[in-house]
Amino acid sequence: MKILKDLLFLLLCGMFLCACTKNHEKTYKESRESLHTVVAITVVSDSSDKAKSAIDKAYHELDRLAKLLNFYSEHSEVSEINKNAGNKPVKVSVETFEIIEKALYASENTEGAFDITVGPVVKLWDFKNKVAPDADQIKEKSKIIGYKNILIDKKDSTVFLEKKGMQIDLGGIIKGYAADKAVEVLKSNGIKAGIVAAAGDIRTFGKRHDEGSWNVGIKNPRQKGSVDEIVAVVKLSGQAISTSGDYERFFEKNGIRYHHILDPKTGNPAYGCQSVTIVAKEAAITDAFATGIFVLGPKKGMGVLNKLGIDGIIIDKEGKVYITDGLKGSIELMIKDSTFA
Ligand code: AMP
Ligand code: MG
Repeated sequence: MKILKDLLFLLLCGMFLCACTKNHEKTYKESRESLHTVVAITVVSDSSDKAKSAIDKAYHELDRLAKLLNFYSEHSEVSEINKNAGNKPVKVSVETFEIIEKALYASENTEGAFDITVGPVVKLWDFKNKVAPDADQIKEKSKIIGYKNILIDKKDSTVFLEKKGMQIDLGGIIKGYAADKAVEVLKSNGIKAGIVAAAGDIRTFGKRHDEGSWNVGIKNPRQKGSVDEIVAVVKLSGQAISTSGDYERFFEKNGIRYHHILDPKTGNPAYGCQSVTIVAKEAAITDAFATGIFVLGPKKGMGVLNKLGIDGIIIDKEGKVYITDGLKGSIELMIKDSTFA
């Protein structure tokens, strides 16, 4: 229970973070809206001016990436790629190329369960107004899903969607990727330790100055009330962590939960898990794999994590908890046994 005492709880979309102060160094924290969510940036610094300036620059980077990679804006590079589907390759920036490369890596290692070409089906679902598309619409749009039809050319920095009507949606990787980039900005502005938390996609770097770990809580995906219940705390030192859950964006109709993580094979929500948390070096990877492993389900998902040596915690549809061996020493479970449904 010691780490619980250390925790300076910060409620943030299902996760809690902690940072403390020592000597002349202080912890500075700010939360702002970016990437259509709340992003909290925490830095350790010996100067408030230095901390503030670095944090400002990091938010600037997040906003720049949000604009560049926005699926819903007419003016983004993603939109330019989508408009030219089935027509011609589009020359893109280093960042757009890089995030698509990382997305393809996740697709290739999750049997296509993570697939950014789900765009046309994503647009059919309206979680705000609780509208599920009809089966025919889903079937029609599902025909053009397939990451193998994304052609990238590194030399020319171009991206080409082979089939007309294809659309890429980077929603399953953008927050993690942007968190990594914001950390790069903080580092290049002299910050040695901190956290960028874009809702459930979090990148830590450096060490807390008391040499403690950064502690992140995992939320109970089936908590009853509005107060967050933590089922586990993960101790991190410099890694990233992401959680994808079926409680983030959903509606219920006739006892069925319709949520935002879609199986590219069916165009419908994936039903094997309640939440998946991934721990790895980069937040782009944790973000993409949290989404992809959620779709794969617990059995195949654990297989992929073990094969790649990526750590994770899967809570399956019955509430059973699966933890990779690599995490067992750095996780504290708040539940009595491995099931808490
Ligand atoms: P996350 O919250 O990171 O799990 O990402 C979910 C978001 O990614 C959704 O809102 C969609 O925009 C997109 N998405 C949904 N299903 C998939 C999938 N199977 N592969 C890639 N992106 C997806
Ligand atoms: Mg994701």
